[in-house]
Amino acid sequence: MEPKYLRDETTNEEEINPHSFIDPVVGIQMVKDMRDAFVEVDPDNKDYYEKRASDYLDRLGDIEKEYAARLGELPEENKVLVTSECAFQYMLDRYDMKEACIWKVDTEENGSPVQITSLLKFIEKEIVPLLFLESNVDPRPMETVSNESGVDIFGKPIYSDEIGKPGDEVDTYVKYLKYNINVISEGLGQQ
Ligand SMILES: [Zn+2]
Repeated sequence: MEPKYLRDETTNEEEINPHSFIDPVVGIQMVKDMRDAFVEVDPDNKDYYEKRASDYLDRLGDIEKEYAARLGELPEENKVLVTSECAFQYMLDRYDMKEACIWKVDTEENGSPVQITSLLKFIEKEIVPLLFLESNVDPRPMETVSNESGVDIFGKPIYSDEIGKPGDEVDTYVKYLKYNINVISEGLGQQ
């Protein structure tokens, strides 16, 4: 699978987008790679690794079908995800959705006036039904965007860089993937 790149037009910085795991298809590939790596270094336990991987891949396969179905059924004009950081590129490209965000590359400058203005210009041109706020970011830049544009922030956070602490609602990768598809389809499906 090919990496995707992020370029920040305001600073001209470019880097590989590290958030590939947000796309369940990439998650599936990662599990296969891990299985193969374990088998290579510990071939005596090949059956064990293959069984564990196969069970997990079944679960991820079901989730991937859910992503395809639920994102596919969103109204065409609602297929746009607006978040603080451009973390969702792999998943959104996969399911033919548009992406907009305040900052592309994580720097000290997250949420600068130039970045906020640039997102506001996008919202003026495009139909944006809803804004999403990640669980781990400073909410103030997105709150400014919401106040200036009049577009609401969805009532539940979306998860990007982190999962929850043990015992939280979103404390495993499987729960993370399921939680996000629920939030996205709930938010964009009802608009
Ligand atoms: Zn990130």
